[in-house]
Amino acid sequence: MRNLLHLGLSLIPLRGMGEITYRLFWAEEPPYTYRVIMRLSPSKGPYTDLQMPSWRPGRYILQNYAGALYHFSAQTPDGQPLAWKKTDKDTWRIFHTGKASTLEVSYRIDARTLDAGSSYQGGALIYFNPITLFLYPVGRLNEPCRLELPDLPATWAVATALPAKNKRLYEAPSYHHLVDAPFVIAPTLRQTQTTCEGTTLHVHFWGEIGAKNVDPFLTDLCKIVQTQKQIWGELPLAEYHFIYILVPFLMRHAVEHENCAVFVLPQSGAQDESSLKGFLSISAHEFFHVWNVKRLRPAAMWPYDYNTPPMTSLHWFTEGVTDYYTSLTLVRAGLMPEAQYWSQLSSFLQELENSWVYQNFSPAELSMDSWHATSPYRPTFLQGSFYAAGKRVGFLLDMFLRRESGGRYKLDDLMRYLYRTYYKRGKGLPEEGVLEGVVHLLGAEKRKVVEDFWRSYVEGRERVSYKDFLTGLPIAVEEVEELAQGWARIGIRRWSQEGEGIRIVHVEPLSAAARLGLSQDDIIYTVDGKSAGDLDPAFWDSLKDGARVPIGWRRKDEVVDEGVLYFTARQIPRQKRLRLTPTKEGFGTSD
Ligand SMILES: [Zn+2]
Repeated sequence: MRNLLHLGLSLIPLRGMGEITYRLFWAEEPPYTYRVIMRLSPSKGPYTDLQMPSWRPGRYILQNYAGALYHFSAQTPDGQPLAWKKTDKDTWRIFHTGKASTLEVSYRIDARTLDAGSSYQGGALIYFNPITLFLYPVGRLNEPCRLELPDLPATWAVATALPAKNKRLYEAPSYHHLVDAPFVIAPTLRQTQTTCEGTTLHVHFWGEIGAKNVDPFLTDLCKIVQTQKQIWGELPLAEYHFIYILVPFLMRHAVEHENCAVFVLPQSGAQDESSLKGFLSISAHEFFHVWNVKRLRPAAMWPYDYNTPPMTSLHWFTEGVTDYYTSLTLVRAGLMPEAQYWSQLSSFLQELENSWVYQNFSPAELSMDSWHATSPYRPTFLQGSFYAAGKRVGFLLDMFLRRESGGRYKLDDLMRYLYRTYYKRGKGLPEEGVLEGVVHLLGAEKRKVVEDFWRSYVEGRERVSYKDFLTGLPIAVEEVEELAQGWARIGIRRWSQEGEGIRIVHVEPLSAAARLGLSQDDIIYTVDGKSAGDLDPAFWDSLKDGARVPIGWRRKDEVVDEGVLYFTARQIPRQKRLRLTPTKEGFGTSD
């Protein structure tokens, strides 16, 4: 099979030098397997280093795609083997000492992960994110690339944002563009398009879609596009592709690209016209990335270095502020009632106020710590989300700008200013760029108050007093802080009844329950000799400082344990109730 493939390749004449060609094969491969044959000119000097990305834009963890690569070999086009060795976990060094004018490299790669940023080969679903499959020559990311798909049956459908020369041949001006354009290929796809604000929106569905008429969905997508264009002042796209992979299980994942986004969503959400509305929020989030992160992008990722994890404290801005704008977009586009917007926002902020991790990690810290998310040394209780932390900053910053400018500016103005100042001038957003943008809008005399904001809520972990923060703005604030009650009083913030016992869902670190050694998924059976399932949660409210309560519990692995919980008043977590209601119609949303 290997020889056959090589024979096929040699019939195709080699294109101009300085062009890197990738041929991707799957037809003769087992499921979950791609085979790649790559041709390129050698780098200057005695060897060429080829590298696999260790992470991908949009997910700030190490994924080490090189781990899926095997059967690597290198030769000249006429079949003379070239020596090679690995020089680090991601790099293959091919030695050519001037004797080769073209290098031909081949390898296999495993592809069995199905999420919005992965690659998968399942026979009737050919789905790949080029960044997980293709090596690049070190230092040559700007050379034009060709992608050939010789195995693609003529009748199959293709969804991709990469321009096609023909169905089996795609060209990208650089590796950066090649890897920013995923492909979904299948015998059939439901494909449709509409023109919106002069841009062609392509919508592709793979999988079972029950909705007969998707036109209303396209109309809603266009409302999202129009609303976001207004925020940014321009729509920098001629075409855009929404690529939806519908799966028969519950999954909600999406990844943004320059000219497209891929979504993996449950097919139940596409069973009819009205359920499709459930896809609008995630679509609005990804489309906002057209500007925020794909174009207005932290300098640490300008340009992308696929081997070295980019260190930026701005993920709270690129993801969290995008999340803030997701619901704002829906309400402005008339796709969500205003009352629902405020009620969801209030619940969201209340949850953050009551969550230990957000009182102990700042949005800037959580951004940097994104790289620890998959570390076995990072326990769940330390895993905060820069999405959530940043969404809160987005709201606070929006209100801060309105408050400090006397209503002259809001967050939209800052977004437009940053987009013009950095992206439109061909630059990345510096680490201090957002802060400086706020100072620019409010004037240098406000620098101190802006720096205070950053110290408290971006680089700091201060709790927010919404009553104080929103003073002077037309928002009614109901904010009550009190000692936690019931099970939460000993630090068991969330739990569920399980037969005779209480299953712990979340324990507050350093609380009385945590000090006893109780943790997530433990089942408490007895409290003070009585059945935990029958216990009135108010029992905990009556405990006096210094009380000792015998507790019996069982761990998942069937270890039965008992101990005495030592209750002290100073360890009682605090609990906030929060409700924000605008007193002026449209304030904070359309106004
Ligand atoms: Zn995002």
